[in-house]
Amino acid sequence: MRFTSTRDGGLTATLSEAIRQGIAPDGGLYVPARFPSFRVADFDGADTLAEVAERLLAPFFARDPLSGCLSAIVREAFSFPAPLKDLPRGAGRLSVLELFHGPTAAFKDFGARFLAACLERQPHEAGRPVTILVATSGDTGGAVAAAFHGKPWARVVVLYPEGLVSRRQQQQLTCWGDNVTSLAVAGTFDDCQRMVKEAFADPELQSRFELSSANSINIGRLLPQSVYYAAGSLEVWRREGQAAGFIVPSGNLGNVVACLWARLMGLPIGPIELAHNANRTVPDFLSSGEWQPRPGLATLASAMDVGNPSNMERLRWLSPDWRELASQVKAHSITDERIRARIRADYRALGETWCPHTATAAEVYATMPATQRGERRWVLVATAHPAKFDEIVEPLVATRVPVPPGLAALLGLPSRFTRIPANLAGLKAALGGEGPS
Ligand SMILES: *Cc1c(COP(=O)(O)O)cnc(C)c1O
Repeated sequence: MRFTSTRDGGLTATLSEAIRQGIAPDGGLYVPARFPSFRVADFDGADTLAEVAERLLAPFFARDPLSGCLSAIVREAFSFPAPLKDLPRGAGRLSVLELFHGPTAAFKDFGARFLAACLERQPHEAGRPVTILVATSGDTGGAVAAAFHGKPWARVVVLYPEGLVSRRQQQQLTCWGDNVTSLAVAGTFDDCQRMVKEAFADPELQSRFELSSANSINIGRLLPQSVYYAAGSLEVWRREGQAAGFIVPSGNLGNVVACLWARLMGLPIGPIELAHNANRTVPDFLSSGEWQPRPGLATLASAMDVGNPSNMERLRWLSPDWRELASQVKAHSITDERIRARIRADYRALGETWCPHTATAAEVYATMPATQRGERRWVLVATAHPAKFDEIVEPLVATRVPVPPGLAALLGLPSRFTRIPANLAGLKAALGGEGPS
């Protein structure tokens, strides 16, 4: 399979090349040149995530140097489950796809571990580690650090906006040491993302380091995310003979692109609803056709505080006409006030504790017209464990949220980070200096 740039369709790469480069040479994002087409029966006998992954991803690996490793890669990346949990009948036909059972308790673990497993199996230059620059709004950085920590062929540099991530997220970003450098940037997530882009465009840094990116512009993070949508939709189909609808908490739009791709490949997925926080760029675009990126607003669902989502370029490549895109997906914007009220209400009524991101999806479901709700089974995509956001969630539900063991193990480690200003000079100085301060 070849991959092509969203900008210049004549520019193509193999999967290995696309993963190594991160971004296409023309500044576009890599997308599959064509999508394979599956039927439900193609997955007969595939029950675990790894088994579904191997069949779903095989066409993308065809004739790539990595193709012989696919089986090992999916076993490494999908070593923890994404259970589909049914809620009590009082909630209607509602299930939760729990994507937070990995080492850092958010769905980013799937993509980060898959990417690490792919890069690990590519040739490395002795003595010249791949330097992975990652800008994070909170969850990506921890997942990437966890996936690459201790790999001798990689160095990870995490940029996070100081003061704009939760206390436990910050711990997950700064507890690693060794080959992980954590930089607390005096700025926003958009600043961090800009600094990474500037670093890629800087000839001096390009010659000093072998730079790579682990943000969701990298196709190596998106392909594995299609797998849990495939597995979840197959489970509902086998049980009920109906295509489930999915409600996806969205920020940079990587997770929802993966869901759309799974539907495009023939998986039994019905309507897809995007739940955004108060950052309205995407809902406004789908209702007006005007694309107006803007600075990100700080909200309770901070991992979705994105005013200029980079994966929009992949959505618009799929559906260049905005009306056509608006017929494929619906988008909603949920305020902080509604996030808080939904966390309280669902804890009381269902006994479920949502993280603030998952709560946006729960609110979209709760406020959907009753006829639409009754048409099918709906699946809320639970993107993070609520214990990562204990400062927000615990006062609302007036109880302690149990900490999953993987997260608990990280909370006791020493935290080390370097503060830098929000500019390229600050990043350069930190890259040159050895070790954390
Ligand atoms: C990253 C993240 C999101 C947003 O996902 P996108 O792929 O950027 O749309 C939602 N919830 C949580 C918890 C996240 O970490």
